[in-house]
Amino acid sequence: MASYEIVDHEYDALVVGAGGAGLRATFGLVEQGLKTACITKVFPTRSHTVAAQGGIGAALGNMAEDNWKWHMYDTVKGADWLGDQDAIEYMCREAIPAVYELEHYGVPFSRTEDGRIYQRPFGGHMRNFGEAPVQRACAAADRTGHAILQTLYQQSLRFNAEFFVEYFALDLIIEDGVCRGVIAWCMEDGTIHRFKSHTTVLATGGYGRAYFSCTSAHTCTGDGNGMVARAGLPLQDMEFVQFHPTGIYGAGCLITEGARGEGGYLTNSEGERFMERYAPTAKDLASRDVVSRAMTVEIREGRGVGPKKDHINLHLEHLGPEVLHSRLPGITETAKVFSGVDATRDPIPVLPTVHYNMGGIPTNYHGEVLNPTKADPEAIFPGLMAVGECACVSVHGANRLGTNSLLDIVVFGRAAALRAAEVVKPGIAHKPLKADAADLALSRLDRLRSAKGAKLTAEIRDDLQQAMQRDAAVFRTTKSLAEGVARVDQVAASLADIKLVDTSMIFNTDLAEALELENLMACAQTTIHGAAARQESRGAHAHEDFPDRDDKTWMKHTLAWLDPKGKVTLDYRPVHTFTLTDEIDYIEPKARVY
Ligand SMILES: Cc1cc2nc3c(=O)[nH]c(=O)nc-3n(C[C@H](O)[C@H](O)[C@H](O)COP(=O)(O)OP(=O)(O)OC[C@H]3O[C@@H](n4cnc5c(N)ncnc54)[C@H](O)[C@@H]3O)c2cc1C
Repeated sequence: MASYEIVDHEYDALVVGAGGAGLRATFGLVEQGLKTACITKVFPTRSHTVAAQGGIGAALGNMAEDNWKWHMYDTVKGADWLGDQDAIEYMCREAIPAVYELEHYGVPFSRTEDGRIYQRPFGGHMRNFGEAPVQRACAAADRTGHAILQTLYQQSLRFNAEFFVEYFALDLIIEDGVCRGVIAWCMEDGTIHRFKSHTTVLATGGYGRAYFSCTSAHTCTGDGNGMVARAGLPLQDMEFVQFHPTGIYGAGCLITEGARGEGGYLTNSEGERFMERYAPTAKDLASRDVVSRAMTVEIREGRGVGPKKDHINLHLEHLGPEVLHSRLPGITETAKVFSGVDATRDPIPVLPTVHYNMGGIPTNYHGEVLNPTKADPEAIFPGLMAVGECACVSVHGANRLGTNSLLDIVVFGRAAALRAAEVVKPGIAHKPLKADAADLALSRLDRLRSAKGAKLTAEIRDDLQQAMQRDAAVFRTTKSLAEGVARVDQVAASLADIKLVDTSMIFNTDLAEALELENLMACAQTTIHGAAARQESRGAHAHEDFPDRDDKTWMKHTLAWLDPKGKVTLDYRPVHTFTLTDEIDYIEPKARVY
């Protein structure tokens, strides 16, 4: 192995990731008096959170009566009863103070006439336990994520949080069943950094880039999930991948559900508003899995639009230029740039596109990472926490409602900071690390850097993305999933034949992409194996050979371990069928209609 210059650091707490989840955790930890570092592979305000458009959900009741219990009911139902109801109660209740906290931090929310935070309708959010749509999404025009991320970054600066920007976290340091920190590569000067910490919070975001067409940034490569898998810990519910109904046809960029919240609607080639047939009450504002499947069925049955009849129209032109310019300026521009359509005149061509990962690193509602065993399905893994899209709390279960992720990242980012401060006291001395503490990370880096195989990173990544797009799609069958397992495992094996061209350590994007590809591979393998095993349809997992939800056998969380040879092992743990307090009863499973 080549020799690497190693720089040592010691912190009370460490956060990997500077999206909404990582930033909220970072300044929360500093606020609690812990010496904290935040490591991020891109500049904080370039994290994918910046792209969030539509809104953050909270039952403020600014537009009409609302109640956190209705929000909780919608979330449980949206999750198709795979969510943990204690965690969902915590999130929906905390939503209200969390949004006011953001307001006081300086998020420039859009306003009502009388100056309160503006709220718009969003898919699956209803009043009075499913009666009719309610306006719950707190929005800053259609740039809510941008507004929130900038504000959280400003707060982090206010608290003097320490940032390590363009540091790529490679692997966790695990010793004797405890996480002791992280090994990171400074992309600017090529040095290796060993961060010791009493608690490490992963906030590395989703892995949309395992698919060919997705709404997420190129940086969304599931790095935290990969690190956890390599540490021998399981990932949870990975088979649940959300397709957003309205990605721009071809480009995949998102048109927010807020567009339908403001009154937009979908039509097929016959000009029919087909959602009325699939979801008589919620119509175009049914939850995302429902709308994505309806669109796919319309296309399959020959009612798609365009020369190839392979997409659907989204109409906003009836809203008028004024509403579009004040409420949806960003997507009007996106539509123009990426589909050439003037949304004030013509419908936007759209197609369901990969958008969100419900699965991830299993945690409790304090953000503590779980290492479940048969004897103790709630056992925690000491020293390690996870928040945001990389985590699976699980508040989104089998399908996330729009606006609940921006909510998740601030609520659980804060919760993790509060928990860490209970467990870790400031300034506790660090034990020395064993001499081989950096070996896992460095041998991986070194192996990839000197890889002289036959396939470029981009070729293997393309094979992976095509396989996932084809076989882990909106609709799945026993056959497509079996083919998917074989194909994805085969692509994973081809990593042994990877070739890197650039061997330098300084801003080597070839190396960064290869490291990311290994992380994507871990995510993809656990996704496809979990999906092939789950013989039912629930939320985003629509299995044509098993079209019904099967609560008797399958109301349980999937756990997937990946061994160093690339073999996936599955097991399961119970869903929490209890709430946090007795202010609300457990919401019993029932048929999910909108
Ligand atoms: C286009 C789009 C629109 C959306 N709109 C909405 C919406 O309106 N409402 C809503 O609720 N949700 C929305 N979502 C979902 C939501 O925005 C995301 O789930 C959420 O912002 C994820 O936040 P995060 O902090 O977990 O991760 P991210 O914001 O993705 O941040 C990940 C961070 O991890 C860092 N990182 C990753 N790997 C490494 C590594 N190896 N080393 C160091 N650092 C690393 C990155 O640098 C980055 O700072 C949208 C998502 C997309 C893609």
